[in-house]
Amino acid sequence: MIIVLKPNPTDAQIEHVLERIAELGLTPHISRGVSRTIIGVIGDEQKLQAEPLQAIDGVEAVLPILKPFKLASREFHEADSVLEIKGVRVGGGHLAIIAGPCAIEGEAILFEIAERVKAAGANILRGGAFKPRTSPYSFQGLGEEGLRILQAAGDRFGMPTVSEVMDPRQVELVNRYADILQIGARNMQNFDLLREVGRTRKPVLLKRGMSATVKDLLMSAEYVLSEGNRQVILCERGVRSFEDSTRNMLDLSAVPNVKGQSHLPIIVDPSHATGRPDLIPAMALAAIAAGADGVHVEVHTCPEKALSDGPQALVPEQFARLMDQLRPLAELVGRTIDTCESVPV
Ligand code: PEP
Ligand code: MN
Repeated sequence: MIIVLKPNPTDAQIEHVLERIAELGLTPHISRGVSRTIIGVIGDEQKLQAEPLQAIDGVEAVLPILKPFKLASREFHEADSVLEIKGVRVGGGHLAIIAGPCAIEGEAILFEIAERVKAAGANILRGGAFKPRTSPYSFQGLGEEGLRILQAAGDRFGMPTVSEVMDPRQVELVNRYADILQIGARNMQNFDLLREVGRTRKPVLLKRGMSATVKDLLMSAEYVLSEGNRQVILCERGVRSFEDSTRNMLDLSAVPNVKGQSHLPIIVDPSHATGRPDLIPAMALAAIAAGADGVHVEVHTCPEKALSDGPQALVPEQFARLMDQLRPLAELVGRTIDTCESVPV
């Protein structure tokens, strides 16, 4: 950490800063220029970052050398992390193709969607049983019954599953049925929830909050990692902006931005990012070109009757066409798409 003092500091001000550093058990290295003085501090930077040193009289700026996230950083783990979920690898050149309905609505319809997305090339099945709806009067999800149906569909079609958990009290339940625990955008900074999923040993799909920075996202990942769960997949799903012709604004630069700073895989959700089926394929392809480790797409056999997010759902034929375009692109950029081999359809 580097502490920059204001111009022409007094000896008393310098002395005070040095005393505070000594109190913390760290060693300062002082460098005096003509009008500027800076103090370098070597030691436990995490400990220092927790101290409000900027509040000391005469201090102009406190500049960290390390990132505030440690376990999520590339400095901590240089190689890309590769997760393996029931034989499907994610990260390090392996793409997660996550598809399924926004909400699990019933067994017959989920089985049909699962069969169609698997045939088109999806390797992970999604479906919400607990839905974070803007209105309390909207469909809230089937709860445990939905999770049971999701698990049955995953088993039938040989696909790992992902489902959202909204509350720390639901973690045990969702963990019993789903292969990946999803933290939704609205809960990205629900720190108790992050800690709770961090205590499981299930992969966590952590979606970026709609007004969260890339650094906020990585700090939230750090919560999960710091509890001992090293399996985190990040997801860019668009942020709020002034643009009102799309549901959110897809921040594709977040992909290489995260990759430069972190070893964790990052996928893109063009469905929630755009809210528009006509834009989803282009953004899914752009995500792969930008280096994303996969995509997350909502698919429904009858969007006009869907109980949640119907207007943004692709029908299975559209999803299959998207996959026909995505596969050669993935090959071109040296990515592979694993399939879960255990149960052939
Ligand atoms: C979802 O995946 O269905 C969902 C609610 O996404 P987000 O949390 O990104 O809005
Ligand atoms: Mn949705």
